[in-house]
Amino acid sequence: MWFDATGTRLPSPLFPGSDTLGQLQYIVSTGYDYSWFVLTQSIIKKEFALSGSEQNPDLTGKSWRMTARRAINKGAPAPVEAFKMKGVDFIVRDSLADLVSAMNALVGDNLLKLEYLKAQIEARDREIDNPYVKDTQVMNIHNARRYIGDRLIRTAKPHRILDPAHGPLIAVKLNIVTRKTLGGFKTDLDSRVFGSDGQIMPGLYAAGEAAGFGGGGMHGYRSLEGTFLGGCLFSGRNAGRAAAQAAS
Ligand SMILES: Cc1cc2nc3c(=O)[nH]c(=O)nc-3n(C[C@H](O)[C@H](O)[C@H](O)COP(=O)(O)OP(=O)(O)OC[C@H]3O[C@@H](n4cnc5c(N)ncnc54)[C@H](O)[C@@H]3O)c2cc1C
Repeated sequence: MWFDATGTRLPSPLFPGSDTLGQLQYIVSTGYDYSWFVLTQSIIKKEFALSGSEQNPDLTGKSWRMTARRAINKGAPAPVEAFKMKGVDFIVRDSLADLVSAMNALVGDNLLKLEYLKAQIEARDREIDNPYVKDTQVMNIHNARRYIGDRLIRTAKPHRILDPAHGPLIAVKLNIVTRKTLGGFKTDLDSRVFGSDGQIMPGLYAAGEAAGFGGGGMHGYRSLEGTFLGGCLFSGRNAGRAAAQAAS
């Protein structure tokens, strides 16, 4: 579950993996530049992945044996476990009361109230056994698990966050960082570059990240992380085709 600095759950549809710009707008509107994930060991094991091939040795090493261990081991992949145990923004506790105290201690204030957090988590937990679930995040998990790949390695089986069998509880303080500029040359759909006067510059094409994030936003201004490569390839194909046509 995702909470702002004051302990209020982010509103639907601002769940992990959804509208990044919407999430950012919401978080900065709170007046704080950080927020919190609260999760369980079962969730971190399946749903935390670190970006970069060196952080996922099982998948990128194409090792069936290491990948299969994800299902057997109680722990997350080794690099994720290392973050969990050593990361300054990771807190691991057996009870929610201890977790909330440690969260407050980490930021040095008393913004988070145990009863308020508990009520929201229990409300979400009640929906786990509801066949007509109304919690949009839980609905999304059910939906994702209809695809076998997501069911096997990307999503934890829905469970109550406060169920000790899935513990310990984990909190992660999330800080806002700039990871990429999302800038680039402005292009049309043929990947032709616009000049500063707003006119097409004949013979100049830009594709991939050079045209802005994900190939000039081919998947939309609010496109999701993980969908950039396709747009980069597509904009490159468009550039090649347009250049060939212009030359013919
Ligand atoms: C850590 C990380 C994780 C990512 N994960 C995903 C993901 O899960 N899914 C997804 O879709 N996208 C992901 N992306 C984004 C995706 O990898 C990029 O959008 C895509 O690879 C960009 O392709 P590109 O060809 O535009 O640029 P690049 O792949 O950056 O290629 C540019 C090339 O130009 C070369 N170059 C630079 N300057 C010069 C020069 N002066 N002369 C000659 N050559 C030069 C560089 O060496 C490089 O080879 C991720 C990116 C990062 C950094």
